[in-house]
Amino acid sequence: AVARTFEKIEEDSGRQIEEKTSTLSSIYSKCLTVSICSILCCLDDLLCCVYLCLNQLGPAYQGLELGVGETVLMKAVAQATGRQLDKIKAEAQEKGDLGLVAESSRSNQRMMFAPANLTAGGVFNKLKEIANMSGNSVSTNIKIDIIKGLFVACRFSEARYIVRSLAGKLRIGLAEQSVLSALSQAVCLSPPGQELPPAVLDAGKRMSAENKRVWMEEKALILKQTYCEMPNYDAIIPVLLKEGIDELPNHCKLTPGVPLRPMLAHPTKGIGEVMKRFDEASFTCEYKYDGERAQIHILENGEVRIFSRNQEDNTSKYPDIISRIPQVKKENVRSCVLDSEAVAWDREKKQIQPFQVLTTRKRKDVDASEIKVQVCVYAFDLLYLNGESLVREPLSKRRALLRESFEEKVGEFVFARALDADNTEAIAEFLEQSVRDSCEGLMVKTLEKHATYEIAKRSHNWLKLKKDYLEGVGDTVDLCVIGAYLGKGKRAGSYGGFLLACYDEENEEFQSVCKIGTGFKDEDLEQHYNFLKEHILPKPRPYYRVDQSAEPDVWLEAVQVWEVKCADLSLSPVYKAAMGLVDPEKGISLRFPRYLRIRDDKKPEDATTGSQIADLYKKQQQIQNQGEKQDLEDYY
Ligand code: ATP
Repeated sequence: AVARTFEKIEEDSGRQIEEKTSTLSSIYSKCLTVSICSILCCLDDLLCCVYLCLNQLGPAYQGLELGVGETVLMKAVAQATGRQLDKIKAEAQEKGDLGLVAESSRSNQRMMFAPANLTAGGVFNKLKEIANMSGNSVSTNIKIDIIKGLFVACRFSEARYIVRSLAGKLRIGLAEQSVLSALSQAVCLSPPGQELPPAVLDAGKRMSAENKRVWMEEKALILKQTYCEMPNYDAIIPVLLKEGIDELPNHCKLTPGVPLRPMLAHPTKGIGEVMKRFDEASFTCEYKYDGERAQIHILENGEVRIFSRNQEDNTSKYPDIISRIPQVKKENVRSCVLDSEAVAWDREKKQIQPFQVLTTRKRKDVDASEIKVQVCVYAFDLLYLNGESLVREPLSKRRALLRESFEEKVGEFVFARALDADNTEAIAEFLEQSVRDSCEGLMVKTLEKHATYEIAKRSHNWLKLKKDYLEGVGDTVDLCVIGAYLGKGKRAGSYGGFLLACYDEENEEFQSVCKIGTGFKDEDLEQHYNFLKEHILPKPRPYYRVDQSAEPDVWLEAVQVWEVKCADLSLSPVYKAAMGLVDPEKGISLRFPRYLRIRDDKKPEDATTGSQIADLYKKQQQIQNQGEKQDLEDYY
């Protein structure tokens, strides 16, 4: 049933998101009704199904990853089916998807006993067992044996999805938000056993279609918000089944040690826009430091953990930060969650270093004595303190508590420099100063009204004002590479240009937005070629939206995000970004895009979205119109 659901979702790609959600929801409902025998069975089945859909083995921050190499997988397919390895290799090359090869390679070997049918739980546990193995040759052979064991029991399309899951590339075009909606839908419409209040059941049955939709959206929102504070299905699903959705926020709360998704900011074009948006509201301007976001957690037991923008565990990357926390935190702090930026710091010159310097630092298991690139932490928010979540408090209070709870130490731990001004001149001056002090510009944040910490949201309560916007050179966007064009002349033998796409959350698809060929150093091109050639696809994924006229020479798996700067945006009959949002027929494309850097801290689904591209376009039009109006006024 899981494999069939995946097939259906793949087929549905490009259709309404509601269809995908309800397909998914029916498999979750099945877990709830089939396993009616006990809540424990439901729990187990449901958890495994959710993780299988997400191609995860547990919470992302625990870092248990699948990613079995192609060679190992091919060997297992060959051994399980009795086919020759060479044939499998050739077919995989041709089809570009080892999953399909595995599916079509029916076993030629007769077996004494037919193996038992696979179950979701059984497969999930095997995947976990494999991921937990270390990478020596003995474990490789054991891995192959386990995989073979799975293959011989596969029916229908199961082999396709097991291979893709093992490789860590399930990619059926399913976003986590859909999984959350489907989960809440299933629990609302088929409450497990007798454990849910009957009132919920009755309410669901008596409603009109429209009321039901609104009701389900409200429930989904509770689940989504809880997930933001506690991104762990192992913790959420048991409560969901036992207590129901409404009770979730009382049981699954922000907890030090569990990373939460960070609050994000909206780009603005200038101080004028900031003043207009915030109008009467009081706000503060902070330096926007150019480093890496660091969510620092101090646990009750004194342990310190650091997480990235993406909830990856960066604790072993920053032993230096860990060791300085006891010196900067005041005695009354027993537990907390800090939001901050770790920035490369030159101790001799006592100044901030560019972001590029930070990227040269080792990423894992750093030995404090070998650190060459020093960092300074710039703390800008406090989200939790001594057992209390602060996310619903206004920034003014969070900031006061932050300043009361920590002490500054030059070059090691300081509060983000801030100015609570409300006149244009002072802000302009502060912005210039931030740039002179090696920052990217300012973050402007409401202090009192609409000033809560909006987890995982790109809220208008935080606006970013980057120097780039002011120079009029345009904006930077983060785009996913989905194709490449073969190089000519100096670039012959590698890729000369690339097809970039934004991610459309609404339709869960990658929409082409421009071709890019400038901004690359020779080393960049070499690095991209070596990395991307491992991710070639024989044909585009069904969830890529690309016009025939922009088709690349090679299609690529959406695996990497690049930061790109552009001169401006224009309506385009060729590119598909934000299709239908500004113009019913045309999409939007970037003009004169320049490559800046790889964004390792962003997943493909974190790329700039179609609606953000539409917003940027609209903003640009407004400014142009204002400019034209000004010109006319000058003229008269
Ligand atoms: P986003 O994170 O909004 O998707 P992005 O990753 O491209 O976009 P930026 O546009 O550079 O990031 O701006 C947001 C980032 O700026 C934050 O994620 C944080 O790491 C960094 N930052 C630096 N200084 C501050 C500050 N004072 N307050 C909040 N964030 C800050």
